Amino acid sequence: MSKQILVTGGAGFIGSHFIEALLQHKPTYHITNVDVLTYAGKIENMSGFTKHPNYRFISADIGDADQLLGAFDRTYDVIVHFAAETHVDRSIHNPMVFLETNILGTHNLLLAVLKGYAKKILYISTDEVYGSLGMKDVPFTEQSPLAANNPYSASKAGGDLLARSFYKTYQAPVIITRCSNNYGPRQDKEKLIPKIIANALTNKKIPLYGDGLQIRDWLYVTDHCRALTTIMEHGEIGEIYNIGGGNERTNLEITKQILNILGKDHDLINHVEDRKGHDRRYAINWGKIHKQLGWRPMVAFEDGLAETVQWYKSRLAQGGH
Ligand code: NAD
Repeated sequence: MSKQILVTGGAGFIGSHFIEALLQHKPTYHITNVDVLTYAGKIENMSGFTKHPNYRFISADIGDADQLLGAFDRTYDVIVHFAAETHVDRSIHNPMVFLETNILGTHNLLLAVLKGYAKKILYISTDEVYGSLGMKDVPFTEQSPLAANNPYSASKAGGDLLARSFYKTYQAPVIITRCSNNYGPRQDKEKLIPKIIANALTNKKIPLYGDGLQIRDWLYVTDHCRALTTIMEHGEIGEIYNIGGGNERTNLEITKQILNILGKDHDLINHVEDRKGHDRRYAINWGKIHKQLGWRPMVAFEDGLAETVQWYKSRLAQGGH
């Protein structure tokens, strides 16, 4: 069946993989990508599908309701809302743009749903809204309280709660997903894994916050996109779905693993002062999406990491950065 899908933030890391997969597997779907191309949104991320006949790109800032109106020249079956400011360090230095995009931008999209421009919206939230876990705590479930600890996660939690409130107050057709850390090709070079790879390849010191023993749960980006497609098609309105890899690693462990893949010395690691408000551990219980919708991660961490390293390596060899 033919469908109209509005993706926001499709020039970024996860959004571009999501669009690519949808165009590949769903030949009757038509995709509109709304993105304002911040430093994280890149033309080259979209190069695999720019010319696809079922795809169009609209340059608009989701924080600007008037700009956004141009995209609503049709009724969408679903909005998949990725667009966000996403870098925690940037949020610590300049929180305002995080509020404008992640909260006000989300509000503009929710209003569009209320006005009937879309039949459903998926709000792509993050496990960071739950805050930090102790080493012995059980992983976050969908019922865990939201306890964001930095301006990025607070702004995502703001959008998350606003989406929930539109469902509770106006019965807006909203679904919320909260995924753990993604990795894979096309992630912006400021993020942990790309930065480690780029520095290692050029024999530069790798700055690692504090003792490097912060734990994150890692999921390969295509596994996340598959979960989102499943939720988009079969998820229930008003529900929240955690998505995770069941793959907890310390930042130090990942850094050493990448250095090993590249055959580089561990003395490239340079411990620097810890990030302010740095969460110690994230871990996510993804039992609900597994039991109710049959999803589970498919890509083993070692394979995904090797593929990611290879991708950055060949990109750098071609003169990219
Ligand atoms: P990204 O930073 O790579 O991409 C964000 C995209 O949004 C970019 O293309 C950017 O140009 C666009 N954008 C930013 N502000 C905009 C605005 N005002 N109007 C229109 N477009 C705008 O982000 P990502 O890592 O792909 O993350 C996508 C979403 O998934 C985010 O909502 C993020 O919170 C969520 N998420 C990410 C992860 C992760 O590990 N990367 C994990 C869980 C959830």
